[in-house]
Amino acid sequence: MLITNGKLITWGEPNQILEGYAVYIEGNLIAAVGPQADLIARYPQAQHLDARGQYVMPGNVCAHTHFYGAFARGLAIPGEAPKDFPEILQKLWWPLDRSLRAEDVRASALVMLVDAIRHGTTTLIDHHASPNTIDGSLDVIAEAVEQSGLRAVLCYEVTDRDGNAKAAAGIRENVRFIQRCRSEAVAGGRVAATFGLHASLTLSAATLDACRSAAPEHTGFHIHVAEHESDEYDSLAKSGTRAVDRLAAHGILGPKTIVAHAIHIDAREAGLLAESQTWVSHQPRSNMNNGVGAAGVESLLRLGVKMCLGTDGFPHTMWEEWKAAYFLHKVWNRDPRRMSAADLAEMAAYNNARLAGSFFSQAPLGVIAPGAHADLIFVDYHPHTPLTTGNLPWQIVFGFHESMVTTTIGSGRLLMQDRQLLTLDEEAIAAHARQLAPAVWERYYAQF
Ligand SMILES: [Zn+2]
Repeated sequence: MLITNGKLITWGEPNQILEGYAVYIEGNLIAAVGPQADLIARYPQAQHLDARGQYVMPGNVCAHTHFYGAFARGLAIPGEAPKDFPEILQKLWWPLDRSLRAEDVRASALVMLVDAIRHGTTTLIDHHASPNTIDGSLDVIAEAVEQSGLRAVLCYEVTDRDGNAKAAAGIRENVRFIQRCRSEAVAGGRVAATFGLHASLTLSAATLDACRSAAPEHTGFHIHVAEHESDEYDSLAKSGTRAVDRLAAHGILGPKTIVAHAIHIDAREAGLLAESQTWVSHQPRSNMNNGVGAAGVESLLRLGVKMCLGTDGFPHTMWEEWKAAYFLHKVWNRDPRRMSAADLAEMAAYNNARLAGSFFSQAPLGVIAPGAHADLIFVDYHPHTPLTTGNLPWQIVFGFHESMVTTTIGSGRLLMQDRQLLTLDEEAIAAHARQLAPAVWERYYAQF
């Protein structure tokens, strides 16, 4: 497939904007990038995909999400509104994830994958919980990912909140799925695995040790850290140390581990995250919604922490997340100079691609270059000012919108063309989820 008449944004190092260039895709990889006339001459048999003057760029990556949260949309929390994040967990997320059956897990994933294709997010790092259907739940999600044509990294959130047997089942599910991904190319190699942990505040020392010793070699973890102060207070009460120190002591940090949030950490914990080369993912929309504060993103970047950007189950509209971060830190600090869009590009374009690429290392990811994974989107954006590599991050914050994504390509395959989804039946998926929702909500309300 030869993509013609596009303006390429490569997100290479350095970034380049190439006009008059074409992209030749062979199988699931970009085989060539070059002047359009040259590529047309070189590949005379190629089927053309005309980008009609749109921008062609790598698909977005979401560093932290929860497919299982789909049924929260429109759900009324009974009783008084939760006053803080621990109450949000107790009144919303925990009774909701306990209400999911395998069919609901599948429907949630499909709903989220439709959303991702439509909004141009081609790789998703998911953090799954469904305490009443743990065994095989990651296979159910993997099947949905396979159907969608997208790329995902999956794990199960181990926790002690539902008792020892379910903590053990969570460990088994992670180990089983990690081994499955090592022994076969799940979804043609588009699904990878990591080891999920809920958060320090729902994990005993014994369970953390059990996870550490059960995790196959060269496995990282994916865990929430210090999303709210309670994670730190709980850790101090349990272990006499703060949450990041506690995780470090249990061998959870490292260059393959993803920590979500890191809002209430102190300087020593930030240093531990930097030294251990742990990935840290920032979710500003979720943080604003939960009223939990804002991570010290700029300081963490300055310290050398590998900061990424995730949605935490919000729609997979990554540029919306850029915008939320851009505005949140200005108002949080009462200073319009804070949170440069260049920092956002470093996080959401480059670090997210590096993080996702570490799970799909057969080829570079998140870049338009020969040999890279062919995960691409077309953006129907026609700016009224010059768009340059220098101002692209600001063009994204003030000009780009996910509704401008018209075509999504995952692993060389068209998943959406001219806004028509080709792999998933959007209407049928939404209708099926609407059918399942009343029973999910009934099981949710039955717990109050
Ligand atoms: Zn999360």
